[in-house]
Amino acid sequence: MPGKQNNKNKKLTELRQDIVTGDWVVIATGREKRPEEFAEQKREIVEENNDKKCFFCYPEETNQEKDVLIYKNSDDDWSLRVFPNKYPAFSCQGEVNHFEEGPYFGMDGVGYHEVIVTRDHKKQIANLDSLQVAEIIDAYQDRYIDLMNKKNVNYIEIFHNHGKEAGASVVHPHSQLLAIPVISPYVKGELDGAESYFRQNKHCVYCTMAEWEISHQKRIIFENDNFIAFCPYASRAAFEVWVMPKKHKPYFERMGNEEKIQVGEALKISVEKIFQALKDPAYNFYLHTSPCDGKDYPHYHWHIEIIPRTSIWAGFELSTGIEVSTIEPETAAEYLKKI
Ligand SMILES: [Zn+2]
Ligand SMILES: [Zn+2]
Ligand SMILES: [Zn+2]
Repeated sequence: MPGKQNNKNKKLTELRQDIVTGDWVVIATGREKRPEEFAEQKREIVEENNDKKCFFCYPEETNQEKDVLIYKNSDDDWSLRVFPNKYPAFSCQGEVNHFEEGPYFGMDGVGYHEVIVTRDHKKQIANLDSLQVAEIIDAYQDRYIDLMNKKNVNYIEIFHNHGKEAGASVVHPHSQLLAIPVISPYVKGELDGAESYFRQNKHCVYCTMAEWEISHQKRIIFENDNFIAFCPYASRAAFEVWVMPKKHKPYFERMGNEEKIQVGEALKISVEKIFQALKDPAYNFYLHTSPCDGKDYPHYHWHIEIIPRTSIWAGFELSTGIEVSTIEPETAAEYLKKI
């Protein structure tokens, strides 16, 4: 088992495969928590009135990693910056070692983990203007393009957590990027589903959804020339919203400037509507796009899913993977549209 037992070479994280389902899990021990510490469950959240300096307002003073991207405004202050996560779920050192233990199989958690930070500590996405959100999208794309051809990077997940219930451990608004060697089971399900729908219907499943939603207007909450924002027919969470290109687009990284401005607008307006409707709920949003593993995915269609955290997964959801949404998406859409 190369690189496993020797403490000096100990990797921070490893990927382990569930041999029944093929799903991957990450075992991340970088923060060196002892077993008894789990009982305390005290997550450190950097609050606004804390004496401590906010990591993301003062990245230099709090010893964050060096920037990999910085956008400056006309006053020479920064407006957005990206740096490697201090506590990476995936770290970029070394080769990917594969290892086995009897019937089991795993590999090192090699990859990249970055944080994308906007300037203002108090302005969450709902409070930014559309162009500032477009700048965030621009940074996502910039980092995506830089990392997509790196060795061992086969999928890049970009996501944003807002609020404690959504897993945000730092109050200062930020997104995260994980460039990883495996394709997640969720994305794999979408890729397979899109391909089999195309084989049967000779049409993209996401384009089919977009066309239906545009012509019926029951679940659309916002649209501009290139994007729709809508509550999906089979929403998994109350007030779930997807932002999706109207035309068939498999690759997020190929988006042009005008599209970035428009997706910025659609994302900002969707998040703002959710913010107002649910009074600043915790939420996650994330990007789903074609893998960057060197293969073509002509039948996939990139999109952003926004999931307000209005309920927690209980026994039924955990045991079945079937989520329970407590409002009809049509009713949620009607409400969001009016805001
Ligand atoms: Zn801050
Ligand atoms: Zn499509
Ligand atoms: Zn998706």
